Formats: sequence, structure tokens, C-alpha cells
Amino acid sequence: MTTTIDKTILISGASSGIGEATVRELAASGARLFIGARRSDRLEALAAELGATVAWQKLDVTSAENFAAFAEAAEARFGRVDVLINNAGVMPLSPLAALKQDEWTRMIDVNIRGVLNGIAAVLPRFVAQRSGHVVNVASIAAHLVLPSAAVYCATKYAVWAISEGLRQEHDEIRSTVISPGVVATELGNDITDPAIASALQDWRQKSLTPDAIARAIRYALEQPEGVDINEVIVRPTAANM
Ligand code: NDP
Repeated sequence: MTTTIDKTILISGASSGIGEATVRELAASGARLFIGARRSDRLEALAAELGATVAWQKLDVTSAENFAAFAEAAEARFGRVDVLINNAGVMPLSPLAALKQDEWTRMIDVNIRGVLNGIAAVLPRFVAQRSGHVVNVASIAAHLVLPSAAVYCATKYAVWAISEGLRQEHDEIRSTVISPGVVATELGNDITDPAIASALQDWRQKSLTPDAIARAIRYALEQPEGVDINEVIVRPTAANM
């Protein structure tokens, strides 16, 4: 194994999909990984499979206290924190008129508040050590709006704006947005509207596998300190949206 990333990296939403693929990609590059999500059985199995450079702790990104404790535990385990990958996200799509306000709240809490909680958990460390890298997983939904996706797109536009603000405010901290097109994962399995759940299956006919996004994240992390990859948009070649 060649070590190309000598860093301690925190990853939220590491229990499936893009997060899990990113853990596998970065573990193969020699990075030290501290991985979080709510389904701790999956984290435990992944860490056991990949070895001592991967440690885990249960994480609910909607809790600022929980995220702060997660970052502290990572520092206690590996001695420092270099990178945060804010990957956790949810996408229960529905038309606005369905008034699924609980689902709107959940998207705002996980996709926006979760990203901010993550930034709050690492930013004082990054400022003090005068280096650090925040990678936020947004979406092509940070660049377009579709019917039934108004709130999801709003949360991803917000992730884009927060990332850009972080970039502008700090000369020594890198800020990267990764914006995937359609990827075959568990995202959207909680859609409660049958017609939209079926439409999602149609979109997934042209989709990436999660390792494609993991490689884009690795590309951003591998750059020299003075190079900040601000955004990478990755779509399936055949995509028309
Ligand atoms: P998955 O559903 O496979 O993964 C989502 C991850 O988020 C899971 O690990 C889940 O873990 C975690 N998560 C959800 N809620 C919380 C929470 N409250 N606290 C901590 N972790 C949480 O989907 P993807 O891999 O596709 O999604 C990853 C990111 O990629 C998301 O931000 C998504 O919006 C984005 N994205 C995905 C695209 C796609 O087509 N798949 C396209 C564009 C962007 P657990 O349930 O165990 O907590």
C-alpha cells in the first residue's frame, strides 16, 4: 500500500453509499480515518475490516454536542484533525403542497445544520493550527431545482453557499464542494410518495457507483496545501440532467 495522504480525516455518513466508499478509498491511501453515522453496527464492521487506521464513533450530525464530542474523540485517538468530510445527508423528496413539514425539517437539520455542526466542531482547531480542509458533499441539486426537490435543493444550495463563505473567510483553510450527479446508494429509500420513489428508480438507470465520488474526494485531498479544489461536479457520462 502506498501512503499518499498522511492526514487524520473525519467522515460523517460513513455507514453506507458515498461515505462508505470514501472510507475505503482513503483507507487504501494510508489516511487515518474517524468515521461516524447513526448505524453503529455498520461502522463497527467497516472499521474491523479495514484495520487500526480506521476508528468509529456513533454520530448524529443534527446534534452540535454530539459532533463536538466526535471531533474530540478523533483528536484523542489520532492526535490531531486535518480534514472534515461533511457527507451525511437525507433526501425525502415530495411536492411542497404535500406539506410534509417533518421531512422538510429533517432535511434542513441533517443537510444544513449537520454541515454547520461539523464546521463548528473543527474550525477552532483549524484556525489554531493554521491549516485544515473541509469537504462538503453537496449535489448537482446545488445548481438546479426540480419539482418535488425544492427543499432538498434549497439545502444543497445552502451547503454550496456555506462552503464558499468558509473559503472566502480563511486564507489557510481549504474548502471543497463535491457535487455528485445521480449515484446508486440508499439515498431516497425513505421517500414516502410512491410516484416520486418510482421516478427515482428511473433516474438511477443512469447512475454512478459511489467509488466515482470517493475518487473525486481523494483528488481534492491529495493536492498540495496551497491548492484548493473549490468544487468538483461528477455526473454519469450519459446523464442529461
Ligand atoms: P446514503 O443514504 O447511502 O448515505 C447517507 C449517509 O448519511 C448514511 O451513512 C447515513 O447514516 C448518514 N446520515 C443520515 N442522517 C444522519 C444523521 N442524522 N447523523 C449522521 N449521519 C446521518 O446516501 P449517499 O451516500 O448517496 O449520500 C451521501 C451524500 O451524498 C448526501 O449528502 C447526499 O445528499 C449526497 N448526494 C447523493 C447523491 C446520490 O444520487 N446518491 C447525489 C448528490 C449528492 P445513518 O443512517 O447510519 O446515520
